[in-house]
Amino acid sequence: MTTPSKFPETLALHAGYRADPATGAVAVPIYQTTSYQFRDTEHASNLFALKELGNIYTRIMNPTCDVLEQRVAAIEGGVAALAVASGQAASAFAVQNLAKAGDNIVSSTDLYGGTWNLFANTLKDQGIEVRFVDPADPEAFARATDDRTRAYYAETLPNPKLQVFPIREVADIGRRLGIPLIIDNTAAPLLCRPFDHGAAVIVYSTTKYIGGHGTSIGGLIVDGGNFPWEEFKERQPALNTPDPSYHGAVWTEAVKPLGPVAYIIKARTTLLRDLGAALSPFNAFQIIQGLETLALRIRAHCENAVKVADFLKSHPSVERVIFPGLQGGEERRRADAYLKGGYGGLVGFEIKGGRDAGRAFIDRLKLFYHVANIGDVRSLAIHPATTTHSQLSPEDQLATGVSDGYVRLSVGIENIEDILGDLSQALVAGAGTVAAE
Ligand code: PLP
Repeated sequence: MTTPSKFPETLALHAGYRADPATGAVAVPIYQTTSYQFRDTEHASNLFALKELGNIYTRIMNPTCDVLEQRVAAIEGGVAALAVASGQAASAFAVQNLAKAGDNIVSSTDLYGGTWNLFANTLKDQGIEVRFVDPADPEAFARATDDRTRAYYAETLPNPKLQVFPIREVADIGRRLGIPLIIDNTAAPLLCRPFDHGAAVIVYSTTKYIGGHGTSIGGLIVDGGNFPWEEFKERQPALNTPDPSYHGAVWTEAVKPLGPVAYIIKARTTLLRDLGAALSPFNAFQIIQGLETLALRIRAHCENAVKVADFLKSHPSVERVIFPGLQGGEERRRADAYLKGGYGGLVGFEIKGGRDAGRAFIDRLKLFYHVANIGDVRSLAIHPATTTHSQLSPEDQLATGVSDGYVRLSVGIENIEDILGDLSQALVAGAGTVAAE
């Protein structure tokens, strides 16, 4: 970047790219290529030996993806990032990069349903145990820790509960024990800067607010470069012992000349290489387009969400509104400590009449789309108990905050009058149904 900046609005437009060296193109080109011509055999062997960084093969790196990686790393104040095919791949890799069969991680119970399934079933099948704890008590993370605990995991603003995670409290516990906190910041980009509060790794589903337009699935892992892996050799063997999958490299030593990037280089050169969940350059381009206007959009989402929460709060068909800006006590303290500039674009509410009323409300919406997504410019709604969280047992549903009548809204950036108008017509009709029952 020719003019360095500390402001995310500027970094989102300028970090990692000025103009295409071959053509002068100002928009980031889509480098739609699988492979890259090596200058000579020495160049090729240096790239494979990590003596020199450069393009080898698009499964492992790509110049369009590289711009996205650099931009988000710059915005977060991290050292490097890795773009992957989806948010799910980002969450899986973030954990698998540190934990192997026989190891465990400790995770907040407040998770996106897909992450819950990944942790409770798929990682378990791979021999990685995930110990779930209630984030209301940060010390629960310490109590669940043993010698084989490799990471802590949580979401900044987990839906459906929408209770902000105690990032600093848990990060500090982990740092004493040599355990990094991995934070999924999908629901709060720009609003929360997890590295400022002690997190070591950030994961994103860029499918949501960063992409913003509901066009492209993608994920990112960002390395804060702020975790002292080498001081915890026994606790973090994945980065401190020879890796047979890369001719015995000890990652903390092998990449030292490149800076504090052992974690992210290992993820790229082993997990992405072997499991292959690469982001396509086309999707990277779409996500970069979204990132460029993220600051404007997130502000609009937040403003509309406050108005939606206020509207619902006083509506007779609504039992309860779940929104950080309406919380009190410790929950509110955390929201104000970790979110700056707004409480996000997600609003939950419990409709009177439970499961049937929730479904009926969704069916009556005209402007809101009924989709399993969040963070689109358009307003979205879903009834988690019968969709995103339906594969969880009733007990697990309640543990993640999903009751029968819970409705989740991802408030878009349409004119607020249209948003409230649609909610109003769907709720008024809903109130009639409830009264008739
Ligand atoms: N993390 C959170 C908080 C999410 O909401 C989602 C998807 O809804 C994911 C991760 C998974 O992302 P993706 O759908 O891009 O795989």
